[in-house]
Amino acid sequence: MKQECTTHHRHIQHLLNVITTNPDHLAIYTNGSSCTPHYRCKPHTGAAFLVTHLGKHIHNEARGLGPQATSFDAELFSAALAANRILDVLPTHVHRTTHIHYFIDNTAAIDKVYDMSKHPGQLNSILFHDATDKLLSTYPDISVTIHWCPSHKGIPGNEHVDQLAHAAVLLPHSIPSTITWLRSTAHRRTLQHWQQEWVSKNCINSSRYALTTLPTYTLHLVLQKFTETRHIQSHLLQCITGHAFMGKYYQRFIPNESPLCPCDNTTIQTRRHVLLHCPIHNHARSFLREASPSLQLSFILSTVKGWWALISFLKHSCAFIKQDGPQMVFDPG
Ligand SMILES: [Zn+2]
Repeated sequence: MKQECTTHHRHIQHLLNVITTNPDHLAIYTNGSSCTPHYRCKPHTGAAFLVTHLGKHIHNEARGLGPQATSFDAELFSAALAANRILDVLPTHVHRTTHIHYFIDNTAAIDKVYDMSKHPGQLNSILFHDATDKLLSTYPDISVTIHWCPSHKGIPGNEHVDQLAHAAVLLPHSIPSTITWLRSTAHRRTLQHWQQEWVSKNCINSSRYALTTLPTYTLHLVLQKFTETRHIQSHLLQCITGHAFMGKYYQRFIPNESPLCPCDNTTIQTRRHVLLHCPIHNHARSFLREASPSLQLSFILSTVKGWWALISFLKHSCAFIKQDGPQMVFDPG
């Protein structure tokens, strides 16, 4: 990936050498920025574009998009604004321009800028598309190319338009909330609510013992690399959350079931008992000891190393499997 970026950077540098020396080429740099303009102020968004010919700045514009737009909106907006304004800028250069190059440093914006299908930035894509179509109809000998321009790599046009977009966050704005902003705000508020709920249920939530960090939208590291069966994954998550087939769970949710462990028919079958003490699973406990020699339950249930050990334990035992449900083929050796 790094090598690909370096190769592309060289390609862009070579292209810029051509563009800055050949009068047939026009370069348009676009950019969007989102930052907090003042202390205790919500992030604001700005968009800007810059047109250069033979390395000289010939036109630039900037707009403030206010606090209810994202940097993705600003990236697309700047491209749409540039595409519409270039129709006014071009007549003074039309006798020599045959190539127009857009330089955009946001790959998501590049993917969507000419995409007319439904997506959160569709309006700007349509504006860009229609203006570019009009340009190509008016000047059929001109070609338009969109390039990914690596940011903060010392490319003068990109650095300049970055400053313009950054300064544009202070400009007056009048656009309503964008779909992208509404989505990201709903996403953030839902997560905040979830985390507050998680903290407030500290006393009754048995999962808190195992899940020691706040909830996030990111899949747990172990589950990202999980290659075992769905069956094992279910038992892992049931064990972690305390909702596994065991006496302690039955005691609370299925009172008709016996809460006693079949190892002696007197011990309440808790998660701790099954994982650390039950003689039925002695043969598989070595996996847990490898991760935690002192069999520390909090370590087994709350760490990545502990989860991998727990997966091995579940694979090699019949722990947390419903007694009258489908049975795993189990051979203790
Ligand atoms: Zn037992």
